[in-house]
Amino acid sequence: MMSGNEAVARAAWESGLALASAYPGTPSTEILEELTQYPDLNAQWAVNEKVALEVAIGAAVAGSRSLAAMKQVGVNVAADPLMSQSLAGVVGGLVLVVADDVGLSSSQNEQDTRFWGRFAHIPVMEPADAQEAFEMTKAAFDLSEKFETIVILRLTTRVCHVKSLVTVGERRPPNSEGGFTYDPNRWVLVPSTAKRRLPLQAEREKALKAESESSPLNVVEQGSDKRVGFVTSGPGYLHVKESFPDAPVLKLGLSHPAPFEIIRAFAGTVERLVVVEETEKLLETELKAEGIGCTGKDILPSNGELAPEILIPAIAKFLGEPVPVRKLAHDSSLVFPRPPTMCVGCPHLGVYYTLSKLRRQVTISGDIGCYTLGALHPWKALDTTTCMGASLTMALGLDKGRLPKDADKSVVAVIGDSTFLHMGIQGLLNLVYNKGNATVLILDNQTVGMTGGQDHPGTGKDAYGMPAPKVDFIKLIEALGVKPERIHKINPYMMPVLFKTLKDEMAIPEVSVIITDQPCVLIEDHQRFAPYTVIEEACTGCGNCLKTGCPAILVRKRETVAKNGKDQELAFVDIDISGCTGCGLCTETCGPDAIKRMMPPTKTSKEAQAHG
Ligand code: SF4
Ligand code: SF4
Repeated sequence: MMSGNEAVARAAWESGLALASAYPGTPSTEILEELTQYPDLNAQWAVNEKVALEVAIGAAVAGSRSLAAMKQVGVNVAADPLMSQSLAGVVGGLVLVVADDVGLSSSQNEQDTRFWGRFAHIPVMEPADAQEAFEMTKAAFDLSEKFETIVILRLTTRVCHVKSLVTVGERRPPNSEGGFTYDPNRWVLVPSTAKRRLPLQAEREKALKAESESSPLNVVEQGSDKRVGFVTSGPGYLHVKESFPDAPVLKLGLSHPAPFEIIRAFAGTVERLVVVEETEKLLETELKAEGIGCTGKDILPSNGELAPEILIPAIAKFLGEPVPVRKLAHDSSLVFPRPPTMCVGCPHLGVYYTLSKLRRQVTISGDIGCYTLGALHPWKALDTTTCMGASLTMALGLDKGRLPKDADKSVVAVIGDSTFLHMGIQGLLNLVYNKGNATVLILDNQTVGMTGGQDHPGTGKDAYGMPAPKVDFIKLIEALGVKPERIHKINPYMMPVLFKTLKDEMAIPEVSVIITDQPCVLIEDHQRFAPYTVIEEACTGCGNCLKTGCPAILVRKRETVAKNGKDQELAFVDIDISGCTGCGLCTETCGPDAIKRMMPPTKTSKEAQAHG
């Protein structure tokens, strides 16, 4: 049993992969993690997706098979090399695996990577399950070498994470013949070279189109019920098969360039043609432009998965038939609602608690990662989040573009360690260079937290967990132009110190950087201490500790009392000692000192540092 991500990794290894580079991002992360398990190849975490693709391009230009992996938003970052290298092409096979977060489980947008294939004139393959992910990865390497082009393997969350049986094979030896060939007319993309490559790119696309027309990856399944025939790709195929097992289906594995002649012939065998594509109206538009009559997004939604509960009623309505009531296999109303929140004892809790206390005095520019959760209850301490690294760049805009209403407000930018290395360095440089007035909080939890704890150049470990050079954030920040006296490193569990430093730096009209330096509670560097408990009789029910947002603090009893002629809600609390990490953060919020450690602290130096 393998997930699609595991199957891609296995197939890449079997295909003679020499190098893989990726930036973690759900739902693509496990591809590179899995590749570190295979011998005889080099798997690397890159600082961002542009870097990952360029490293893979370098290896492919040198003649080796390589792979770059990322989630859909990462392709925007990697677009620059993607668009250019499409002209020069590759020698060793290069597969760009992109995992589209269809349904937005953990992304800031839902974008359709198939567009990049059209935009960059690069073929796109779309597996429907793990076995196909395995087979198409192999086919993608072969196609890449045959046509000397990058090939996009487009996965979606469902393919990435759902497990199914996969039949595996043997590893073929990595490329050993050939090597890098000196050819500036190909590899040095100055305008004159690029112009000469344009007709070659057009010829390649023509040849790929012919390949698509005869590709065994594009399959017609004749069905008995000819009222509707479906053209589909990726998991859309599985949804169609589950919904309409008797319908004719044309399944596109090599979906770009589209095999219009096959589609035209297929359309002639059915009464109506419906395009089932996740997410955009892409193929449907192309078919209409080719004069092939069809429908699709007129009756189907343009976002989310096209699951049977969507497809069946839409097609019934389209055919003018009664809309069947389908009993859902699961009833989401039975699941206890659980809003997204940070982990118990997370080092970011203190930061957001502190920011929430300063809420009226600041505009807070946020970024992608766990700390995005700071926008939610109880902190409500983020004003903006757009994309990786935008906290720093937008902070400059918020500062320089401020109107009189915001004249007295400070601008604070919040970014994580990995995100800072991904795309924040340039933003900080720009902020300093353009004499911005913002306080930057780098929440260094020593990992890529949100994607499950991957390493990066700030952790001192590589993708294999082996020692690697570790970036010195303070020296780096100094080198970017921040004055040494404006740089602070703080333990975020020491909230009074954090509060005072933040207040002081907000008052200084230049760039300051505060680095918080406690590890994510989910990585091995994190140390747990004896848990805390609430002394029932001492608790006044003020609810202050709940404002830290720590999920280990539970409301035991609620009461409404009259105070100064007004009703006041009280919440008496308990601490779930099985979850409590003993960080001590909540003790700093409790006026009556009702929160006590369950046993005397063992005085480790770390604890002494954290709690005096
Ligand atoms: S000490 Fe308080 S804030 Fe820290 S983990 Fe335990 S309950 Fe949560
Ligand atoms: S802050 Fe202290 S007094 Fe207030 S609810 Fe929490 S434990 Fe009780």
